[in-house]
Amino acid sequence: MTRYFEVQQRDGAARIGKLLLGKTIQTPFIVDSRTLGSPESPIVDAGSLWKLGCAEAAREELNKIRNAVGDNSLVILPHQSFPPEVPDDVANSATKDLDFDITGPTGTTYRHSQRIRNSDLYVMEGAGCFENNARRFFNMLLEMKRDVAPDTAIYTPNICLPENVALLVYLGIDVLDNTKAIIAAHSDIYLTSAGRFHLDSLAELPCRCVACAGITVDELKSHDRRKRAKILEMHNLNAQESELALVREKIRAGTLREYIEGQCRTRPWLTALLRLADSEYNYAEENNPIARSNETLANSTESLSRVEIVRFATRVLERYTPPEADILVLLPCSAKKPYSISNSHWRFINAIGSNRRYVHEVIITSPIGIVPRELELTYPAAHYDTAVTGHWDAQEREWVAGCLEKYLTKNQYRTIIAHVEGAYREICETVSRRLGIEIIFTGSGNVSSHEALRRLKEEVEKHSDGRSRNVEERKKDMIRSIADYQFGEGAGTVLVPVGSIVKGPYPKYQIFVGKKQLVTLIPQYGTLAVTVEGTELMVPFGNYQVKIDDFVPKGSLLAPGVLEADPLIRPGDEVFICGEKALCVGRAVMSGTEMQRSGRGVAVDLRHVKKL
Ligand SMILES: [Zn+2]
Repeated sequence: MTRYFEVQQRDGAARIGKLLLGKTIQTPFIVDSRTLGSPESPIVDAGSLWKLGCAEAAREELNKIRNAVGDNSLVILPHQSFPPEVPDDVANSATKDLDFDITGPTGTTYRHSQRIRNSDLYVMEGAGCFENNARRFFNMLLEMKRDVAPDTAIYTPNICLPENVALLVYLGIDVLDNTKAIIAAHSDIYLTSAGRFHLDSLAELPCRCVACAGITVDELKSHDRRKRAKILEMHNLNAQESELALVREKIRAGTLREYIEGQCRTRPWLTALLRLADSEYNYAEENNPIARSNETLANSTESLSRVEIVRFATRVLERYTPPEADILVLLPCSAKKPYSISNSHWRFINAIGSNRRYVHEVIITSPIGIVPRELELTYPAAHYDTAVTGHWDAQEREWVAGCLEKYLTKNQYRTIIAHVEGAYREICETVSRRLGIEIIFTGSGNVSSHEALRRLKEEVEKHSDGRSRNVEERKKDMIRSIADYQFGEGAGTVLVPVGSIVKGPYPKYQIFVGKKQLVTLIPQYGTLAVTVEGTELMVPFGNYQVKIDDFVPKGSLLAPGVLEADPLIRPGDEVFICGEKALCVGRAVMSGTEMQRSGRGVAVDLRHVKKL
């Protein structure tokens, strides 16, 4: 629990926060390493024991600094840094006498084998040594994030460059410094977010910052070493700061992921870092919002492994139960979303006609995989755009085939009709072969042709008997499926009980039992907003609950007020707050784990509060 650092906005592991010092510092932040020893700096390094000598001298130095800066600056405790290669037992024996009284905002050098203090900031020791070694850097970061509270800042010294700022922040680094950018300037290296250039290799200056605007590259080259370094330094620091400002904007806009999928190509180790982070699904998933207001862009291979895509596929498999139907119709996706309002889907639906009551529709799409019709509104199924060339690469095919294969292994139908063509058909054929199941193909070259639509109509007609669902039941299936997707399997039967009715025009459906409204479908995200009456029903269900003490919260619930929170909770989730004196429903601002482990910040924005 920290008093001097607060996270205000999260986007996956990335976050915007503030260090509450003499002057409030917005994070992510680049500290000036040239002033780290000065009491004027917001972050003051008390220094290395290699220089200070003994523990007693270190304590004296620390007291001196704290007396000078008070609570205005964060003080990094005296430390004895070792290269990462030094074995833990050697490093520990050398630092075992180090123990300091902590007062005011404090930073500590993190070493995994050492006792974890309640610091406001942790320093990744030797972070600069990890450049170009994605695995070691990521493993170290993973370990730190597991050990330290979520409301503490992470500082990676001596690694930041304009080219890697975006990815470092994406991975959850809050404080960086300008050491490397300054050293580069003194080696005639011109830094940009698109990579670094030796000054000699430049024919022009690809920047118009104040350092570059008034000078040509030839003039810069003609200066003596000292003057050159001064201008290069000014430019390098500007480049770093402007990239960081852009990254903060990307976090605010919810588009940092799209940006880093391109930005990481600057250097192979950055691309490797992104892939490693993706392979550790839980790393970014926990703080990834449940929905975004912006479009999800799938423009690279890595888009297939981003949290939104993997989470949707996982939930369809684990939480979703198809409605009772014997015929499955597989359909291709459409550019227009939700699919059912596109021209092509209108044609399919018309062809199926009144036999639609016997049919369950599932849409095949890259990169989402498969989308049951009931979830076509739910984020990100109606919120993505992808680069369409007509050609599907091997990885895309395998991902979508894998999704379909797992779905058909879990959910069985008497008849499967695939109204698809091209790559979609090849994917269905692959799955049919692998599972040894028969699939009837009706696409015939062009899924929208009269001939194809006639075949779809005939095949559906031929197999239409058995279980059927009327229009009202299909609407309820949709709400039930969304409830299961959002709150876990079984939530649908709680929020859409037997005897309930659906009101409202598509897609603004509301579920009523008598005069009591239980939920409303939010068309923008395809998620459910639950009323107090719905919340009362959800309490015995158990999931997505936050337990509080005997008080009545107002407006928002703060993290220190949380006794217990469901670890399933993600930012943006609809959550149910239960206490002795109040029952509330609202939207989570942080994950359930963070609510429990944090000492600061808004945990839930409340919508309805019922006093008990
Ligand atoms: Zn410049």
